[in-house]
Formats: sequence, C-alpha cells, structure tokens
Amino acid sequence: MTSSPAPTDVSTPPTRVRFAPSPTGYLHIGGARTALFNWLFARQQGGEFLLRIEDTDAERSRPELIDVIFRSLEWLGLDWDGTPVHQSQRADAYREAIDTLLGAGRAYWCDCTPDAVKARAEARGGTPGYDGHCRDRGLGPGEGRVVRFAVPTDGTVAFDDVIRGAVSFENAHLEDFVIVRSNGTPMFHLANAVDDAAQGITHVIRGEDLINVTPKVLLLRDALDTPGSLTFAHLPLIVNEKRQKLSKRRDDVSVGDYIDRGYLSEAMVNYLATLGWGAPDGIEIRPLAEIVALFRLADVNKAGAFFDVKKLQHFNGEYIRDLSLPQFVSRSTRWLYAEDVPWAPDAFDVATFEVLAPLVQERVKLLSEVPGYVDFVFLPEPVIDDASWQKVMVKGRDLAVAVLAHAERVFADCPWTREDLEVVLFAYAEDHEVAKGKVQAPVRVAVTGRSVGPPLFESLEVLGRDETLTRIRAAAARV
Ligand code: GLU
Ligand code: ZN
Repeated sequence: MTSSPAPTDVSTPPTRVRFAPSPTGYLHIGGARTALFNWLFARQQGGEFLLRIEDTDAERSRPELIDVIFRSLEWLGLDWDGTPVHQSQRADAYREAIDTLLGAGRAYWCDCTPDAVKARAEARGGTPGYDGHCRDRGLGPGEGRVVRFAVPTDGTVAFDDVIRGAVSFENAHLEDFVIVRSNGTPMFHLANAVDDAAQGITHVIRGEDLINVTPKVLLLRDALDTPGSLTFAHLPLIVNEKRQKLSKRRDDVSVGDYIDRGYLSEAMVNYLATLGWGAPDGIEIRPLAEIVALFRLADVNKAGAFFDVKKLQHFNGEYIRDLSLPQFVSRSTRWLYAEDVPWAPDAFDVATFEVLAPLVQERVKLLSEVPGYVDFVFLPEPVIDDASWQKVMVKGRDLAVAVLAHAERVFADCPWTREDLEVVLFAYAEDHEVAKGKVQAPVRVAVTGRSVGPPLFESLEVLGRDETLTRIRAAAARV
C-alpha cells in the first residue's frame, strides 16, 4: 500500500456521517453508492455511520419501502451505528426550529397561490420564482399558508466541497424558499438542516443532484445559530452509456433487482466503490478491507461515473469463481429451489448438482444462470433452444445426421467415463477431418437443448448412458 494514513486530529470531533434516504422508492444504485461512500469514510476514520429516514413528505413517502431499504443495506453489508432516525417522528424539533426562525424574523407566513406567484413573475418580465411578496405583510398562520425563509438580499453562500472545490451561490439568485408546506409539514431542507445539527454530523456525503440544497441548508444553519461546521462532499452523478443521468424509468436501478438477478453482494459493493473512485494503484477488484484502507474522499472524481453493467457482470463472475465450492453450491440454492425452476419439484437432486457445480462455477456470470446450465439433467427431456437447433441441426443438417448416428453407435457400449466418451466421439472428427467443436455441437444440442453449457463429456457422464442415448435418438428422429 502506498497511501499515507488518513489524517486524524484529536481536536476535531469524531467523524460522523449519515445516509439519509427518502423512502419514495427502492434503494437504487445511486443511493447504494452514496451509502457505501459514507460507510467507507466512517469505517476508515473510525467514525460513525448513521441512518436517517427522511420521510416528512407524507404524500410521496411509502413506509413499506423503509424496510426494503434496510434489507438492501444489510445485503450490501453496510452496517450502521445506533438506531435509525425517522424524521416523521421528529415534528417537535422542526416546529421548534420554525418558531425560532419566525420569532427572529428570518421566516414569514405566505398565502400566495402558485398561480399568483407565476402571474406576478410573468408581469415582472419572466424571472421565475417567488418575489418576496409576503415578507412584510405580517401574516400569521392560516389555512393553506406556507412558511418561507427570508433569504438575505445580497451576499453569497460559499463552501469548500471536498470533491468539487470552492462552490458559491449568490443570495440574490435564491428565492425565499418554502420551509413549511401548506399542510403544516416541514420541507426536506429544513428537517435536513435541523437533524444534521442534532445528530452531530461532521461530513455530508451525497449526490451532486443535491448540491442546490446546500446553500439553503447553510442559510438555515446560520439563521438557527447552529454551532460547528459541516464539510460537504458531493459525489459525481452516475450515468448510463449515453452519459445520461441514471433514471428510474429508463435504467435498471433498484438494488433489489440486482439481488434477484444473482449478483453477489461483495461484487456489487466492490463495483459501486469504483463509481467515482479508484485506488492509487489502479487495481479495481479487491477485498473490501483494502478499499476501506485506501479510500480517500478527496480522491473522488468530479466527472460523471458510468454505470457499466457489463463490467459489473465481469466483477460478479470473478467473485463467483473466487467462492469455495460449498459456498457456490449454497449461494446457488435460492435459484435452484426457486418457484420458476424448469424441472418438477422432486426432480432436483443436490448430489447430482454438486458433480456439475465446479463446471458451472467456472462459466456463469450470474447465479441466476445456474439453473439453465443444469436443467437438462433434471428434466425428462431437454428444452430445445430454437436458435441452437436452427444453427446446428437445420443449417448443419448433414453433419448432424452423421454425427448423431455415430454417437448412437459408439455410446452404446463404450465405458461410461468422460475420457472414453470423448475418445469415441472424436474418432469421428479424426476420420472425417471435421473440427472437434463441430462434432460436439449436435450431441450437445440433442442432449442439453442448447449450443452453450457446461463441458459436454462431464455432462454426459452425469446424465448416464440410457438417458443420453434416448435423447440422441429423439434428436436424430427430429432432424
Ligand atoms: N433525503 C435525500 C434524498 O434521498 C438525501 C438528503 C441528504 O443526503 O442530505 O435525496
Ligand atoms: Zn406570499
């Protein structure tokens, strides 16, 4: 390891970060990356990683998703410290902050309808946004009224972002933003600012899409006389292959989908760590403990990070190959006993699977592919893949007919071991000067239904002579 240890300073408060999802959707790739970078930073600094559920928006929050978010974090292995805070249970703290702001004249009631705000903006000549109309009207609470924060008319809000450097916003460009909705619930930035202070958060690590929230949070902290300071690190956007921001509608983003597709959590975590960060030595696939040791917030890039599913699959394949055989078998269980397996419930046999497992482990990129590699053994007859049949049995009909006839003859009485099966089948290749792969193909399609799968002769050995011959004859008849 070449990096120097992370600086520690006894006079600064212990590092405390938080992951603060809004339960308006499943945990998605971007959220998982944010959680991971917070967790990495906390673990490396010997600090704390807290969870906060930002569920003050009753209309958009879906409480049933909170548990899904917890489960997804657990699956990723991102253990959190303490008990998660739920903002929906902290109304009193927000009320107190709002009263403070109203009392100090830093916030005011407003009864403007969105249409009125818009009409005035148009009359002004198009500058959109709220014009401070109610600032000095002295309104009190009332049906349908919101509370707005009185943004200073001049000056700037500036901060040093660990990743983006100096960032500043002109106050003149910020409208008097709403901090309490007309239904009485606090807006996200208010609750966010209050809780970061209450929880003693030292670093806010979150997606760049939230950078516009930061000046509001800083203004609120200032108006509330919040002691201490926050360090911000805004992580680069995650983009798809068209360099578009990853979107829930367009792209596959939910962590749960990746779990169901047979990704290993360790592969996913390792891949997520590469989305915006890289170790100084350029090695990408490495144990999490090493990533914890090497990770530096300041080394995170500004440029958008490409979420490359092919690369994730490659990571996953590597991690699958790294499992011990018993681990591979046990982690495949979920897919082998799934409701949608192609074979009858009592047809599956673990001992048979274990014979094939080493061959499958070498080849799959996803655990969900495992049943497709072994189903031919557990099905009464193979499921014929049309494309494979067309290519091998229709386009290569003459060779297929000849090879199947040869196989039927030589397999009838040869010793049933993978070595002998190979010798007798490939005798055809030598006698007729045909490539071995071309000779294997019709037998493979006849027996397994597909032109790709585990090694042929091992598969035949497991399947047994009678079943192999039955399938070869059935295919020959069909050709
Ligand atoms: N609740 C916010 C979100 O899910 C995150 C807020 C933050 O990290 O400061 O977008
Ligand atoms: Zn108003």
